Amino acid sequence: MGEERRRQTERLKEIARKLGFCEVGVAAAEPLEQEFVRYAEWLKRGYQATMAYMEREPWRRADVRTLLPTARSVVVVAYNYYNPARHEPFEQEPWRYGKLSRYAWGDDYHDVLRPKLQRLAEELAHLCPGAESRYYVDTGPVLEKAWAVRAGIGWQGKHSNIISRRYGSWLFLGVIVTSADLEPDSPLRDFCGTCTACVQACPTGAIVEPYVVDARRCLSYWTIETKPDMEIPEAIAQRMEGWIFGCDICQEVCPWNRFQKPTADPAFAPRYGQTCLELDAVLQMSPEEFRQRFRASPLTRPRYAGLQRTVRTWKRVVSAKLVDSHADGAP
Ligand code: SF4
Ligand code: SF4
Repeated sequence: MGEERRRQTERLKEIARKLGFCEVGVAAAEPLEQEFVRYAEWLKRGYQATMAYMEREPWRRADVRTLLPTARSVVVVAYNYYNPARHEPFEQEPWRYGKLSRYAWGDDYHDVLRPKLQRLAEELAHLCPGAESRYYVDTGPVLEKAWAVRAGIGWQGKHSNIISRRYGSWLFLGVIVTSADLEPDSPLRDFCGTCTACVQACPTGAIVEPYVVDARRCLSYWTIETKPDMEIPEAIAQRMEGWIFGCDICQEVCPWNRFQKPTADPAFAPRYGQTCLELDAVLQMSPEEFRQRFRASPLTRPRYAGLQRTVRTWKRVVSAKLVDSHADGAP
Protein backbone atom coordinates (compact mmCIF):
# COMPACT_ATOMS: atom_id res chain seq x y z
CA MET A 1 0.00 0.00 0.00
CA GLY A 2 2.77 2.41 1.05
CA GLU A 3 4.82 1.42 -1.99
CA GLU A 4 1.87 1.97 -4.33
CA ARG A 5 1.24 5.40 -2.77
CA ARG A 6 4.88 6.37 -3.25
CA ARG A 7 4.81 5.20 -6.86
CA GLN A 8 1.60 7.16 -7.64
CA THR A 9 3.01 10.29 -6.03
CA GLU A 10 6.29 10.05 -7.92
CA ARG A 11 4.48 9.47 -11.21
CA LEU A 12 2.23 12.49 -10.57
CA LYS A 13 5.29 14.66 -9.89
CA GLU A 14 6.93 13.50 -13.11
CA ILE A 15 3.80 14.44 -15.07
CA ALA A 16 3.66 17.85 -13.34
CA ARG A 17 7.27 18.55 -14.35
CA LYS A 18 6.53 17.51 -17.94
CA LEU A 19 3.65 20.00 -17.94
CA GLY A 20 6.17 22.71 -17.10
CA PHE A 21 5.73 23.10 -13.35
CA CYS A 22 9.14 23.75 -11.83
CA GLU A 23 8.19 22.67 -8.31
CA VAL A 24 5.61 20.18 -7.12
CA GLY A 25 4.88 18.97 -3.60
CA VAL A 26 2.20 17.25 -1.57
CA ALA A 27 0.71 17.96 1.86
CA ALA A 28 -1.79 15.98 3.89
CA ALA A 29 -5.24 17.64 3.82
CA GLU A 30 -5.26 18.52 7.51
CA PRO A 31 -6.72 21.71 9.01
CA LEU A 32 -4.57 24.85 8.73
CA GLU A 33 -4.65 25.88 12.35
CA GLN A 34 -1.84 28.38 12.99
CA GLU A 35 -1.91 29.59 9.39
CA PHE A 36 -5.62 30.34 9.65
CA VAL A 37 -5.20 32.17 12.95
CA ARG A 38 -2.63 34.44 11.26
CA TYR A 39 -4.96 34.99 8.30
CA ALA A 40 -7.90 35.84 10.58
CA GLU A 41 -5.71 38.31 12.49
CA TRP A 42 -4.64 39.91 9.19
CA LEU A 43 -8.31 40.36 8.25
CA LYS A 44 -9.15 41.70 11.70
CA ARG A 45 -6.54 44.41 11.28
CA GLY A 46 -8.19 45.42 7.98
CA TYR A 47 -5.05 44.71 5.92
CA GLN A 48 -7.16 43.31 3.06
CA ALA A 49 -8.37 46.89 2.38
CA THR A 50 -11.30 46.80 -0.10
CA MET A 51 -10.61 43.24 -1.31
CA ALA A 52 -13.91 41.94 0.05
CA TYR A 53 -13.52 38.51 -1.58
CA MET A 54 -10.83 37.77 1.01
CA GLU A 55 -13.36 38.20 3.81
CA ARG A 56 -16.00 35.97 2.25
CA GLU A 57 -16.53 32.78 4.26
CA PRO A 58 -13.03 32.98 5.75
CA TRP A 59 -13.58 29.79 7.80
CA ARG A 60 -13.54 27.76 4.57
CA ARG A 61 -9.84 28.54 4.22
CA ALA A 62 -9.10 26.76 7.49
CA ASP A 63 -9.89 23.33 6.09
CA VAL A 64 -9.94 22.14 2.46
CA ARG A 65 -12.55 19.58 3.45
CA THR A 66 -15.04 22.46 3.27
CA LEU A 67 -14.29 22.40 -0.49
CA LEU A 68 -14.06 18.64 -0.92
CA PRO A 69 -15.30 16.58 2.05
CA THR A 70 -13.31 13.51 0.92
CA ALA A 71 -10.00 15.45 0.64
CA ARG A 72 -6.91 13.53 1.82
CA SER A 73 -4.10 15.35 -0.01
CA VAL A 74 -3.25 18.78 -1.38
CA VAL A 75 -0.95 18.91 -4.41
CA VAL A 76 0.83 22.25 -4.88
CA VAL A 77 2.61 23.24 -8.08
CA ALA A 78 4.72 26.29 -8.89
CA TYR A 79 5.29 27.75 -12.34
CA ASN A 80 8.33 29.92 -13.02
CA TYR A 81 7.55 33.17 -14.86
CA TYR A 82 10.89 34.93 -14.55
CA ASN A 83 11.93 36.80 -17.69
CA PRO A 84 15.26 38.64 -17.48
CA ALA A 85 14.17 41.77 -19.39
CA ARG A 86 14.50 45.06 -17.48
CA HIS A 87 12.57 48.31 -17.25
CA GLU A 88 15.04 50.03 -19.54
CA PRO A 89 12.89 52.81 -21.04
CA PHE A 90 11.88 53.86 -17.53
CA GLU A 91 15.45 53.75 -16.27
CA GLN A 92 16.38 56.24 -19.00
CA GLU A 93 13.27 58.47 -19.06
CA PRO A 94 11.17 58.01 -15.91
CA TRP A 95 9.07 61.07 -16.76
CA ARG A 96 7.88 59.40 -19.99
CA TYR A 97 7.28 55.82 -18.83
CA GLY A 98 5.68 53.73 -16.10
CA LYS A 99 6.78 50.25 -15.05
CA LEU A 100 4.76 47.04 -15.27
CA SER A 101 5.25 44.26 -12.75
CA ARG A 102 7.07 41.31 -14.29
CA TYR A 103 4.14 38.94 -13.88
CA ALA A 104 2.04 41.17 -16.13
CA TRP A 105 4.39 41.46 -19.11
CA GLY A 106 2.74 38.65 -21.04
CA ASP A 107 -0.43 36.60 -20.85
CA ASP A 108 -2.77 36.20 -17.92
CA TYR A 109 -1.33 33.38 -15.81
CA HIS A 110 -4.79 32.04 -14.99
CA ASP A 111 -5.25 31.22 -18.69
CA VAL A 112 -1.81 29.57 -18.91
CA LEU A 113 -1.96 27.55 -15.70
CA ARG A 114 -5.61 26.47 -15.65
CA PRO A 115 -5.41 23.99 -18.59
CA LYS A 116 -2.16 22.55 -17.23
CA LEU A 117 -3.69 22.06 -13.81
CA GLN A 118 -6.80 20.54 -15.35
CA ARG A 119 -4.59 18.09 -17.26
CA LEU A 120 -2.73 17.22 -14.05
CA ALA A 121 -6.04 16.58 -12.26
CA GLU A 122 -7.10 14.30 -15.14
CA GLU A 123 -3.82 12.38 -14.92
CA LEU A 124 -4.36 12.05 -11.18
CA ALA A 125 -7.78 10.48 -11.86
CA HIS A 126 -6.05 7.88 -14.09
CA LEU A 127 -3.32 7.18 -11.55
CA CYS A 128 -5.72 6.89 -8.62
CA PRO A 129 -9.01 5.62 -10.04
CA GLY A 130 -12.04 6.94 -8.24
CA ALA A 131 -10.18 9.97 -6.83
CA GLU A 132 -12.16 13.20 -6.78
CA SER A 133 -10.26 16.46 -7.24
CA ARG A 134 -10.79 20.22 -7.36
CA TYR A 135 -8.16 22.59 -8.70
CA TYR A 136 -7.52 26.27 -8.08
CA VAL A 137 -5.32 28.95 -9.63
CA ASP A 138 -5.56 31.92 -7.32
CA THR A 139 -9.33 31.42 -7.10
CA GLY A 140 -11.52 29.89 -4.44
CA PRO A 141 -11.08 30.05 -0.69
CA VAL A 142 -7.67 28.36 -0.52
CA LEU A 143 -4.62 29.62 1.40
CA GLU A 144 -2.24 28.66 -1.44
CA LYS A 145 0.86 30.06 0.21
CA ALA A 146 0.24 28.12 3.42
CA TRP A 147 -0.20 24.95 1.36
CA ALA A 148 2.95 25.68 -0.63
CA VAL A 149 4.91 25.80 2.63
CA ARG A 150 3.36 22.61 3.93
CA ALA A 151 4.05 20.85 0.61
CA GLY A 152 7.74 21.81 0.77
CA ILE A 153 7.64 24.05 -2.34
CA GLY A 154 9.28 26.92 -0.50
CA TRP A 155 8.86 29.19 2.50
CA GLN A 156 6.88 32.38 2.86
CA GLY A 157 9.38 35.21 2.82
CA LYS A 158 9.10 38.35 4.95
CA HIS A 159 7.53 40.01 1.87
CA SER A 160 4.85 37.24 2.06
CA ASN A 161 5.67 35.64 -1.32
CA ILE A 162 6.74 32.00 -1.61
CA ILE A 163 10.47 31.52 -2.21
CA SER A 164 11.93 28.38 -3.74
CA ARG A 165 15.58 27.65 -3.02
CA ARG A 166 16.05 26.68 -6.66
CA TYR A 167 13.96 29.33 -8.47
CA GLY A 168 13.55 32.31 -6.16
CA SER A 169 10.14 33.95 -5.85
CA TRP A 170 8.97 34.62 -9.42
CA LEU A 171 6.41 31.86 -9.17
CA PHE A 172 2.72 31.32 -9.83
CA LEU A 173 1.02 28.74 -7.63
CA GLY A 174 -1.66 26.18 -8.38
CA VAL A 175 -3.40 23.79 -5.98
CA ILE A 176 -5.23 20.49 -6.44
CA VAL A 177 -7.32 19.28 -3.52
CA THR A 178 -7.88 15.55 -3.95
CA SER A 179 -9.33 12.52 -2.25
CA ALA A 180 -6.29 10.53 -3.44
CA ASP A 181 -4.04 9.40 -0.61
CA LEU A 182 -0.61 10.65 -1.74
CA GLU A 183 2.77 10.62 -0.02
CA PRO A 184 3.22 14.00 1.75
CA ASP A 185 6.45 16.02 1.57
CA SER A 186 8.04 17.76 4.56
CA PRO A 187 7.60 21.53 4.92
CA LEU A 188 10.68 23.61 4.14
CA ARG A 189 12.10 25.75 6.92
CA ASP A 190 12.32 29.54 6.66
CA PHE A 191 15.59 30.69 5.05
CA CYS A 192 15.09 34.47 5.46
CA GLY A 193 17.35 34.43 8.51
CA THR A 194 18.31 37.92 9.70
CA CYS A 195 17.74 39.51 6.27
CA THR A 196 15.25 42.41 6.17
CA ALA A 197 16.07 43.73 2.69
CA CYS A 198 12.46 43.64 1.49
CA VAL A 199 11.10 45.32 4.63
CA GLN A 200 13.62 48.15 4.24
CA ALA A 201 13.21 48.54 0.47
CA CYS A 202 9.42 48.82 0.42
CA PRO A 203 8.86 52.49 -0.47
CA THR A 204 5.52 52.76 1.31
CA GLY A 205 6.25 50.77 4.47
CA ALA A 206 3.64 48.19 3.48
CA ILE A 207 5.54 45.32 5.13
CA VAL A 208 4.38 46.49 8.52
CA GLU A 209 6.20 43.67 10.27
CA PRO A 210 8.09 40.71 8.86
CA TYR A 211 5.68 38.40 6.97
CA VAL A 212 2.78 40.88 7.22
CA VAL A 213 1.79 43.12 4.30
CA ASP A 214 -0.83 45.82 4.79
CA ALA A 215 -2.55 46.11 1.41
CA ARG A 216 -3.70 49.63 2.27
CA ARG A 217 -0.09 50.76 1.86
CA CYS A 218 0.99 48.43 -0.94
CA LEU A 219 1.53 49.75 -4.48
CA SER A 220 0.37 46.45 -5.96
CA TYR A 221 -2.98 46.88 -4.24
CA TRP A 222 -3.39 50.49 -5.29
CA THR A 223 -2.40 49.95 -8.93
CA ILE A 224 -4.19 46.62 -9.52
CA GLU A 225 -7.03 46.07 -7.08
CA THR A 226 -8.67 49.43 -6.45
CA LYS A 227 -11.72 50.72 -8.25
CA PRO A 228 -10.99 53.40 -10.87
CA ASP A 229 -12.85 56.06 -8.88
CA MET A 230 -10.57 55.59 -5.84
CA GLU A 231 -7.84 58.20 -5.96
CA ILE A 232 -4.40 56.98 -4.89
CA PRO A 233 -3.64 58.70 -1.53
CA GLU A 234 -0.99 61.38 -1.84
CA ALA A 235 1.40 59.70 0.63
CA ILE A 236 1.34 56.56 -1.55
CA ALA A 237 1.44 58.46 -4.86
CA GLN A 238 4.59 60.32 -3.80
CA ARG A 239 6.30 56.93 -3.35
CA MET A 240 5.12 55.17 -6.51
CA GLU A 241 8.64 55.09 -7.96
CA GLY A 242 7.18 54.69 -11.43
CA TRP A 243 5.07 51.58 -10.87
CA ILE A 244 1.84 51.85 -12.84
CA PHE A 245 0.81 48.21 -12.56
CA GLY A 246 2.00 46.14 -9.59
CA CYS A 247 5.38 46.53 -7.89
CA ASP A 248 8.37 44.19 -7.84
CA ILE A 249 10.65 46.04 -5.43
CA CYS A 250 10.44 43.59 -2.52
CA GLN A 251 11.21 40.68 -4.84
CA GLU A 252 13.94 42.49 -6.78
CA VAL A 253 15.96 43.09 -3.62
CA CYS A 254 15.60 39.55 -2.27
CA PRO A 255 18.96 37.76 -2.20
CA TRP A 256 17.25 34.46 -2.92
CA ASN A 257 16.37 35.73 -6.38
CA ARG A 258 20.00 35.22 -7.33
CA PHE A 259 18.69 31.72 -8.09
CA GLN A 260 16.09 33.04 -10.55
CA LYS A 261 16.14 31.24 -13.89
CA PRO A 262 14.56 32.39 -17.15
CA THR A 263 11.23 30.72 -17.84
CA ALA A 264 10.97 28.54 -20.94
CA ASP A 265 7.38 29.72 -21.46
CA PRO A 266 7.04 32.46 -24.11
CA ALA A 267 3.58 33.32 -22.72
CA PHE A 268 5.33 35.49 -20.10
CA ALA A 269 7.68 37.35 -22.43
CA PRO A 270 6.90 41.09 -22.66
CA ARG A 271 4.15 41.67 -25.23
CA TYR A 272 5.42 43.96 -27.99
CA GLY A 273 8.73 43.88 -26.13
CA GLN A 274 7.28 46.29 -23.56
CA THR A 275 8.11 46.10 -19.86
CA CYS A 276 7.02 49.74 -19.46
CA LEU A 277 4.23 51.78 -20.99
CA GLU A 278 4.61 55.26 -22.38
CA LEU A 279 2.41 57.47 -20.20
CA ASP A 280 1.01 59.63 -23.00
CA ALA A 281 0.30 56.57 -25.14
CA VAL A 282 -1.88 55.18 -22.35
CA LEU A 283 -3.62 58.49 -21.79
CA GLN A 284 -4.37 58.82 -25.51
CA MET A 285 -5.56 55.23 -25.90
CA SER A 286 -9.24 54.65 -26.65
CA PRO A 287 -11.16 51.99 -24.69
CA GLU A 288 -11.14 49.84 -27.85
CA GLU A 289 -7.36 50.16 -28.23
CA PHE A 290 -7.00 49.23 -24.54
CA ARG A 291 -9.10 46.09 -25.10
CA GLN A 292 -7.00 45.05 -28.11
CA ARG A 293 -3.61 45.74 -26.54
CA PHE A 294 -4.30 44.09 -23.19
CA ARG A 295 -6.66 41.28 -24.23
CA ALA A 296 -6.13 38.21 -22.00
CA SER A 297 -3.43 39.98 -19.99
CA PRO A 298 -3.45 40.90 -16.27
CA LEU A 299 -3.74 44.58 -17.28
CA THR A 300 -7.49 44.12 -17.79
CA ARG A 301 -7.97 43.82 -14.03
CA PRO A 302 -7.86 47.53 -13.15
CA ARG A 303 -9.78 48.17 -16.38
CA TYR A 304 -9.27 51.07 -18.76
CA ALA A 305 -10.28 53.75 -16.28
CA GLY A 306 -8.14 52.26 -13.47
CA LEU A 307 -4.98 52.17 -15.57
CA GLN A 308 -5.63 55.72 -16.78
CA ARG A 309 -6.11 56.90 -13.18
CA THR A 310 -2.79 55.37 -12.13
CA VAL A 311 -0.91 56.72 -15.16
CA ARG A 312 -2.34 60.21 -14.58
CA THR A 313 -1.21 60.02 -10.95
CA TRP A 314 2.35 58.98 -11.79
CA LYS A 315 2.61 61.59 -14.55
CA ARG A 316 1.55 64.32 -12.14
CA VAL A 317 3.96 63.15 -9.43
CA VAL A 318 6.97 62.75 -11.72
CA SER A 319 6.31 66.09 -13.47
CA ALA A 320 6.24 67.89 -10.11
CA LYS A 321 9.47 66.15 -9.05
CA LEU A 322 11.08 67.25 -12.31
CA VAL A 323 10.05 70.88 -11.71
CA ASP A 324 11.39 70.69 -8.13
CA SER A 325 14.71 69.24 -9.23
CA HIS A 326 15.14 72.04 -11.81
CA ALA A 327 14.23 74.62 -9.17
CA ASP A 328 16.95 73.09 -6.96
CA GLY A 329 19.44 73.59 -9.77
CA ALA A 330 19.92 69.92 -10.58
CA PRO A 331 21.17 69.35 -14.12
S1 SF4 B 1 4.87 45.11 -3.68
FE1 SF4 B 1 5.99 47.08 -3.44
S2 SF4 B 1 4.67 48.31 -2.14
FE2 SF4 B 1 3.94 46.19 -1.93
S3 SF4 B 1 5.06 45.35 -0.19
FE3 SF4 B 1 6.34 44.89 -1.97
S4 SF4 B 1 7.77 46.64 -2.15
FE4 SF4 B 1 6.10 47.25 -0.79
S1 SF4 C 1 14.51 40.03 1.05
FE1 SF4 C 1 15.36 38.90 2.81
S2 SF4 C 1 13.76 38.99 4.35
FE2 SF4 C 1 12.80 39.54 2.42
S3 SF4 C 1 11.97 37.64 1.66
FE3 SF4 C 1 14.01 37.84 0.78
S4 SF4 C 1 15.38 36.75 2.19
FE4 SF4 C 1 13.43 37.08 3.26
